[in-house]
Parts: sequence; structure tokens; C-alpha cells
Amino acid sequence: MSTDQKQEQEFIQFRYPRQVPYQHSLGYQSKFANGLKQGRILATKCPVCGRCTIPPRIVCPFHHVKQTEWVDQGQRGRLVSAFKINFPMFDPRTRELQSWETPLVAVELEGGASMDGWCSELDTSKLKTGMLLEAVWRPEEERQGRGDDILHWKPVEE
Ligand SMILES: [Zn+2]
Repeated sequence: MSTDQKQEQEFIQFRYPRQVPYQHSLGYQSKFANGLKQGRILATKCPVCGRCTIPPRIVCPFHHVKQTEWVDQGQRGRLVSAFKINFPMFDPRTRELQSWETPLVAVELEGGASMDGWCSELDTSKLKTGMLLEAVWRPEEERQGRGDDILHWKPVEE
């Protein structure tokens, strides 16, 4: 590695002087979004294999049958994996370059589906596969039916 490569990189950020308002129809996933607004995590379930999926799917990708059953996944789950992003990235919601202190986690929910989120425990050495996590929600009046209505997952003592 040359001396130039060892120097700290300067990140460049562009701002676009326009806004593009749009409306995105969630269609089939509206039930999932409404569940989030109510503090519920809903998943679709395959009638053949019983696999629950988040985000919800109309058709099971393995059995090609329509998934009509919705299953409440509860408020808790087990840690599958965790990692930290160690370089600045753009936050698409704020359009700012920022560092991410909070670990990203994959959680297998009580109902069997899996989803990603942030973890309140910043020290990844304290995160162990299989540990119990609980969803911490935004206040109800601030929820918009988006994945970030769950602020983070908090480790639970067992
Ligand atoms: Zn299936």
C-alpha cells in the first residue's frame, strides 16, 4: 500500500437542488405497514411449508402457492447475526453522510419469520447468537408504517 493510499480518504457529498415528491403504493404489503403502525409485526405464512416471511410475499418462493395467512410474530426474537458498519455511509432518509454506531442485527422472531434492525447494545462483543431481543418501538403517534418504526432491538435478560 502506497503512502497516498494510507492517507485518510476525504468523502465527497453532492446535494441535488430538487425534490421529487412521489407516492408509493404498498399494495399487498399495506397490512404489514398498518401492523407496524399498531406496534405489531405481521408476516405471511406459506400453507405448504409453514415458512413465515418478512417483508410479506404474495407467493411462497419455494412452493409457488399463494400465502393468504398472516401471523403475528410477537415482540421478541433470537439474535441470528450482528455486525457494525465501520465506514461512513449515506443515510437515504436524511441525505447525510454519517457514521453508524449501532450494530445491525438479524432477528428470528417468535413467530418464525426473520427481520433486520438496529440493536441498542453498541458493544458487539456482548451480542451472542441466540440471545433474546425485544422490539423497542417509536411512540405510536410517530409511527409511519415503516421498518424504522422499530427503533431498535434490546437485549432481554433471561
Ligand atoms: Zn412454502
